Amino acid sequence: MAEETIFSKIIRREIPADIVFQDELVTAFRDISPQAPTHILIIPNQLIPTLNDVKASDEAALGRMMTVAAKIAKQEGIAEDGYRLIMNCNQDAGQVVFHIHMHLVGGHNLGPLLSK
Ligand code: AMP
Repeated sequence: MAEETIFSKIIRREIPADIVFQDELVTAFRDISPQAPTHILIIPNQLIPTLNDVKASDEAALGRMMTVAAKIAKQEGIAEDGYRLIMNCNQDAGQVVFHIHMHLVGGHNLGPLLSK
């Protein structure tokens, strides 16, 4: 059984977070340390520790994460100028919270994809 992270508490609204969307499959909330004018995390409500753990049975939630990202980008007014969706897996990508999450970042020119 995977160990819960702070994100499970956010989903259950046990700790404060700026939740911008929630349904039966996913939750989206503003990143506590934004790296761009818009920085929102979109997560499955069910705990999946890393992208290595995704299963076919998770496809509905993973697909919903994409459609919710597009909807939020429109709401944030960044859809036309553009934005980036990022998912980090394990140490080489710098994953620090082991509950998979999609970063939705935008609001200015994001520059090259990778820093090195
Ligand atoms: P990652 O490096 O992909 O694991 O990103 C984890 C992200 O979670 C970082 O951008 C953190 O700023 C963000 N984060 C951690 N704790 C919270 C929290 N309580 N509320 C909102 N965002 C958080």
